[in-house]
Amino acid sequence: MDDKIQSCFYCEKGKKLDSLMLKIIDLPYSVVYLNRNQQHRGRCIVAYRRHKSEYFQLDAEENAGFFADVSQTAQALYNLFHPGKINYATFGDLVPHVHVHVVPKYEGEVQWGIPFQNEPEKFLSDSEYHGLIRQIKTELLK
Ligand SMILES: [Zn+2]
Repeated sequence: MDDKIQSCFYCEKGKKLDSLMLKIIDLPYSVVYLNRNQQHRGRCIVAYRRHKSEYFQLDAEENAGFFADVSQTAQALYNLFHPGKINYATFGDLVPHVHVHVVPKYEGEVQWGIPFQNEPEKFLSDSEYHGLIRQIKTELLK
């Protein structure tokens, strides 16, 4: 195992991951998580199922499958919450594991019309998180 994999919380699936996000479901090419920061209602992360740091390390079928998972997640969030726009963000500077932040944006609410930011953060109760997870999972399984 190389250093990158050892320091990757998407692969470790430990406390660091749990502190930032909650697992919703496994899709064919990814794992979908609910971000604990819910300033943007429904904000999720879709992480590739294996450790890859760049999209070009996936073959065409894997890229297509991964983006189908991202698209399916965005569709589920749209169906549930009716955002005016969805942001899709992929950086990987801090954690070089292919993943996309899927961030619903709501007209008149925080950061409407500009790219989303992490601040200000908004955290929910455990029962609120589990309610959201149940809703999104149900929508993804339709
Ligand atoms: Zn990883």
